[in-house]
Amino acid sequence: MNSLTLKDVKRNNYSLIYRLLYHEKKLSKQDLANRLRLSLPTVSQNLNQLESQGLVRKSGLLAGQVGRKAVAYSLCEKARVAVGVEIQRDVLLITAVDIYGRTFLRKETRCVFRDESGYYEEVGRAVLDFLAEMEVTPGAVLGIGFAVQALASADGREITYGKILYRTGMLVDELEKGIKLPCSFIHDARCAATAELWFDRKIKDAVYLSVGKHLGGALIMNRRIHQGSRGCSGAIEHMTLVRDGRDCYCGGHGCMEAYCSLEALLQGKDTLPRFFERLRAGEAEYVRRWTSFLEDLSVALNDLYAIFDVPCILGGSIAPYITKDDIDSLHERVFSRTAFPNPQPFIKISNAPADNVAVGAALPYIRRYLDSV
Ligand SMILES: [Zn+2]
Repeated sequence: MNSLTLKDVKRNNYSLIYRLLYHEKKLSKQDLANRLRLSLPTVSQNLNQLESQGLVRKSGLLAGQVGRKAVAYSLCEKARVAVGVEIQRDVLLITAVDIYGRTFLRKETRCVFRDESGYYEEVGRAVLDFLAEMEVTPGAVLGIGFAVQALASADGREITYGKILYRTGMLVDELEKGIKLPCSFIHDARCAATAELWFDRKIKDAVYLSVGKHLGGALIMNRRIHQGSRGCSGAIEHMTLVRDGRDCYCGGHGCMEAYCSLEALLQGKDTLPRFFERLRAGEAEYVRRWTSFLEDLSVALNDLYAIFDVPCILGGSIAPYITKDDIDSLHERVFSRTAFPNPQPFIKISNAPADNVAVGAALPYIRRYLDSV
């Protein structure tokens, strides 16, 4: 404490006031002074500063303790925002989130992937058009996260493993030069896990499995996404499920991806809604395929449960279709295999909001900003 300078103390008060307002949403000067044990002039001075920076605004009145109403202060939710872009094969899903991680603008733009500079220019233009529609003050955009079906370096500057859309070695500079704002690449399953963490404060450790067209995994430890030494931690999709089994896009055989992704589940003209409609109607072929899918998934879940002994969250585009009966069936299958006594239910369905991948690509910018105030 002795080593704190006056400047540190002032900075600390500013930050305490910002954080309490963030948490409580609406407070009067007196509330802030009481809760933080600060003098009214100190609170006023900081509120003036925050107001002049456009970070705080007066927002109505609050009932005071002695009957008089007091002016309420709130944070300006859109004073700092971040953008997340989910890159799909022929569509870009772009979302903008405020400091609370709430989506206030979303847009889907057709943009067919091709590995040439024209494509990256098109992505840049789509993002710039979106930024123009956002109606935020200049300087409000903290950055743009691109959720990719690939692994990225820890700093988000480079694709370190890309075989589906973006290629290994691609640099984010290619997108940044057109957009002129900080940009980063993030593995899409990590984005989904980031959104899960943001919207579910109770998660501590978990394995996150995103079951979509492709499979993706992320490992959450102590509320952080585990990176590993090469940034590949949690890439469960290439865990071998069947020795010399089905081909995988990674060049290997028998990977979990080839059994537990929608590419493996859906056939012909199947779409997710159509598949589940027929399955729930009891059509034999669909029941057979679903049973086989659950069986394969349970083998992988049993391995993950044995290694990590933490909850497993099932997310991705399949999540809204999974029922409690499906989860019960998965548990039964895992428990029939597990080596350890007294297994406890550990599989749950994701409860992150829609667009969790795009939102999760934006959230790291908000998190870093909040940590820095
Ligand atoms: Zn593979």
